[in-house]
Amino acid sequence: MKDAKIIFATGNAGKMKEIRMILADLGLEILSMREAGIELDIVEDGTSFEENAVIKAKSIADELARRGQQAIVLADDSGLEVDYLNREPGIYSARYMGGETPYSVKNANIIARLEGVPDDKRTARFVCAIAAVFADGEVCTRSASVEGIIGYEEKGENGFGYDPIFYLPEYGCYSAELSEEEKNRISHRGKALEAMKKVIRGKAGL
Ligand code: IMP
Repeated sequence: MKDAKIIFATGNAGKMKEIRMILADLGLEILSMREAGIELDIVEDGTSFEENAVIKAKSIADELARRGQQAIVLADDSGLEVDYLNREPGIYSARYMGGETPYSVKNANIIARLEGVPDDKRTARFVCAIAAVFADGEVCTRSASVEGIIGYEEKGENGFGYDPIFYLPEYGCYSAELSEEEKNRISHRGKALEAMKKVIRGKAGL
């Protein structure tokens, strides 16, 4: 399976950049959906990160099968759970306040909803589930999370999405203040992808 390639089911450029870095040492070609020439409107109607990741990966794998092509299809579903907001936005993180709403607005809204809430009740986590569909049809999932607290203002220029309001007490900085390498080492997506890399190595005989 040395000529195996990976197609990653995301249209998010920020995520794709992180994913390429993390999976680089597998030595496999990594294509985004668009690079693979696949444009599908996938309805993410699962009730958990894992279910949605599997829905995305299976949709792409089915489309590839229709075209008579083969690849390892990976998909992730991730988001931010804020405990004080009953784990909102959760699986609706991308769609929170509308998909086109800038993150500066979404982030300001979350901070406003936590006005007056003390540090110990501002706990939150980024969660990521990765699903893989292999050429033989086997479906596999791996999940990971990273714990933090919601800050009082946006900080940092790196990352994307909710990174500027996600403070990491263990590292003494906001997620958007981490370098790409640091974030990939400790993030929910980094950890879930590392776990999935082991599965891929086993399956692909790398
Ligand atoms: P998905 O593309 O459906 O998985 O949506 C994930 C959404 O969760 C993103 O659009 C962001 O809003 C949020 N998210 C997931 N991972 C991160 C991260 O590493 N940093 C900041 N926001 C994230």
